[in-house]
Amino acid sequence: MRFLEFAEICSRIEKISSRLAMADALAGVFQTIPAEELSVFVRFARGRIFPDWSAEKLMFGPSLLYEALAYVIGKKKEYVISAVNSSGDTGSVVEGLLAKREQMMFFSEELELMDVHARFLSMAQSQGRRSQQERLRTAQYLLSNASPIEGRYLSRLILEEMRIGVGEGVVKDAVSKAFGIPAETVEHAHQALNDLGEVALLAKTAPEELLKVHITPFKPVKMMLAQAGSIKGMLETHGMLAAENKYDGSRFQFHKTGDKAAIYSRRLEEMTESLPDVVAKLSAAATHDVIIDGEVIAILNGKPMPFQTVLRRIRRKHDIDAAQEQIELRPCVFDILVCDGKTLIDLPFSERRKILTEVMTDYVAPQMVSSSADEIEAYYHAALDAGNEGIMLKVLDTPYLPGNRGKLWIKIKPEVDTIDLAVTGAEWGEGKRAKMFGSFILACQDENGELLEISRVATGIDDAMLSTLYDLFKDRVVAEHGKTVSFEPDVVFEVGYAELQRSTNYPAGYALRFPRFVRLRDDKDAGEIETIESLHRRYSMQNKEE
Ligand code: AMP
Repeated sequence: MRFLEFAEICSRIEKISSRLAMADALAGVFQTIPAEELSVFVRFARGRIFPDWSAEKLMFGPSLLYEALAYVIGKKKEYVISAVNSSGDTGSVVEGLLAKREQMMFFSEELELMDVHARFLSMAQSQGRRSQQERLRTAQYLLSNASPIEGRYLSRLILEEMRIGVGEGVVKDAVSKAFGIPAETVEHAHQALNDLGEVALLAKTAPEELLKVHITPFKPVKMMLAQAGSIKGMLETHGMLAAENKYDGSRFQFHKTGDKAAIYSRRLEEMTESLPDVVAKLSAAATHDVIIDGEVIAILNGKPMPFQTVLRRIRRKHDIDAAQEQIELRPCVFDILVCDGKTLIDLPFSERRKILTEVMTDYVAPQMVSSSADEIEAYYHAALDAGNEGIMLKVLDTPYLPGNRGKLWIKIKPEVDTIDLAVTGAEWGEGKRAKMFGSFILACQDENGELLEISRVATGIDDAMLSTLYDLFKDRVVAEHGKTVSFEPDVVFEVGYAELQRSTNYPAGYALRFPRFVRLRDDKDAGEIETIESLHRRYSMQNKEE
């Protein structure tokens, strides 16, 4: 497929607003496209260059893109930047600037979809002193051979933001439609493979394989997630539950096959090199080839520490007395996905747990199974007293659902604090929300009423509120810089958070952990927002309680 054809399909899809019609259009393409191009097409349509299990990056940000484009159109980089600033959408700017240049072009090579992909791979893999230069040259080659519409999608792909509304759900529906495969089968294969490109390819070439898919060592799958809920509600629905401590650490997925082991973060980035002690502990404790799920916590003087503290302590470890600051990183494992090549995610949790305790000589998180609200309540308070965030309640007879944030895992933790902050800007959303503000920039004030950025918030805002907020803020935009806009700062949000942290990333000197939109405080104006002084007080209160 020529890249031009891909761009034209994207342009067609971008204009479709119905999800159903979008899936139909994609299904038609999936049926006709040659099998060897299908995986790349699927990833590209979602703005992905690599499979979802891969943490590989193109290493090519907006600034380099502007530089490459400036070279191609024979202008200064500042010219491109100012065009992007006044439009806000890099794709359209690239399209417009390439269109102006087009008259001067005599020769150009036709870009092929697979060739573009191969060049992206070489960009990602290029290493060493000259790698930036090489990546720049590749981008220049691609842009200089791109027609305006190709430039539009090429640049969005480079920035990994397609803005055409094709999300996971639409692709899954399209695969299901195109090849007549039940939605559950597509979903299940996707959970295990964590790459819709491969799912689509199997659906086209070997649909029977979709039922037999296995999780592959060293291709991490998404982690199962939790929702907030109540002990009473969970017991009413399920009768009997497993309760575990909710550790305040960092989630991991550990893979071991023979002598080889790797550990991945919640974002599926490989952390093997930065957590050698954790890898060594888990490798020694796992008596089989496994993929296990867990949380790594930090222990100081026998007590769990908030993970933020750990990171801070680790960074300063050379300046302090090692004997005084003994930080131990300890894994707590609570689930098993694969054992000796066998994928276990469809087994009930109680059976997986049994296997987990058989194959691990250590580090299995303690668990209590109970149907009594009083017992679970007591377990919850004991968990808090021991320095945990709360407890997790898990349904015993259910599968492991990678990437699912459902009602099978429920977190129970104390109510979060809330804080009132001014909204000083926002970033455009992604996918379907591309024409809405997605995340909001928040600020507190100093003693002179100067606004100081402290956090961003994107969670806790439902679709209806997003559109209310769009209407509210669209006339308050005072400047645009790339994907970010600044607002007249006269709107106040009440925001929940789990912990106030010291931070050098924000001018306020603090950051909010797990910020969550609670409500619009249209009864308040910016003068009434949180001051630095009261933040200091909050911070010291919080640490006293610890
Ligand atoms: P939250 O991040 O508040 O949505 O809570 C879910 C997170 O709690 C998971 O992603 C894990 O990182 C963490 N967690 C801590 N302890 C457990 C546990 N016993 N089981 C599952 N997740 C846990």
